[in-house]
Amino acid sequence: MKTSRRNFIQKSILTTVGLSMAQRTLFASILTDELPYKMSLIRNNIGFFTEKGGTIGWMISKNGIVVVDTQFPEQSEHLIAEIQKQSDRKIDLLINTHHHGDHSSGNIAYKGRTNVLVAHENSKKNQMRVAKERGQEDKQLYPDTTFDNSWSKKIDGETITLSYFGPAHTDGDAVIHFENANIAHMGDLMFNRRFPFIDKSAGASVKNWIEVLASAQKAYSKDTIFIFGHSDNGFDVIGNMEDIKAFQNYLYRLLDTVQAEIKAGKSEEEIMEIQSIKGADEWKGDGIKRSLSATYQELAS
Ligand SMILES: [Zn+2]
Ligand SMILES: [Zn+2]
Repeated sequence: MKTSRRNFIQKSILTTVGLSMAQRTLFASILTDELPYKMSLIRNNIGFFTEKGGTIGWMISKNGIVVVDTQFPEQSEHLIAEIQKQSDRKIDLLINTHHHGDHSSGNIAYKGRTNVLVAHENSKKNQMRVAKERGQEDKQLYPDTTFDNSWSKKIDGETITLSYFGPAHTDGDAVIHFENANIAHMGDLMFNRRFPFIDKSAGASVKNWIEVLASAQKAYSKDTIFIFGHSDNGFDVIGNMEDIKAFQNYLYRLLDTVQAEIKAGKSEEEIMEIQSIKGADEWKGDGIKRSLSATYQELAS
């Protein structure tokens, strides 16, 4: 009874009032008691948060709070409210896996609320450059700490190590390893069964991305649980080494396919007509052109 009455109320409100899509989503979530975001524990005191943008990683413990990536300000406010239900301490450590807006736009919500904000040095440079280009410098919170190859900090018994393996999705992607829990946040180095964005304007390299994923396979183990920046509908935002290998295979096959087409004398236009990558057909749906054009650009230059 309760459910059907609620559905009736929900339906009538949603259909009779001229609401925007965002308002509808918000009202629907209030009326169904569903939150617009999902917060899941992985192991120990570490988990992930998803709502809109790249997957956020978190560690919430009595004597230490760590957040990896920030989506957008509204999403960060949601996560901060969840953290505050459990602890009133300041964030000990905020990390950006890289500069893209769906991972760093929410940084501003942490202004005055975090002790440290760290990212790879190129991530900070990219964030500053893009903000300047778009006239959005006032909306940024930049890292106060940067690193080159690796950076480590111990917080409440957990060691958090940031590693840089070279240019891939951008030229500033860090992997964040919670060593004791053995959870590694890959940021956008991992697109689970979803066509990746390859940001040539920020120094991306398909060739080197394959090497970066090889380095990750050496650095982490079969027990490591990986957090992925993005996944396709129906696929998880966490996974294991097999998923890393599958995405590495996608990139390898992509490179191989475009290389063969160029060798066969095909034009860029003809290459852009390719619908799927042979040997990596789990990657499907929209977005293959982003892969093809970036790879063409890399190989033809
Ligand atoms: Zn992203
Ligand atoms: Zn990205």
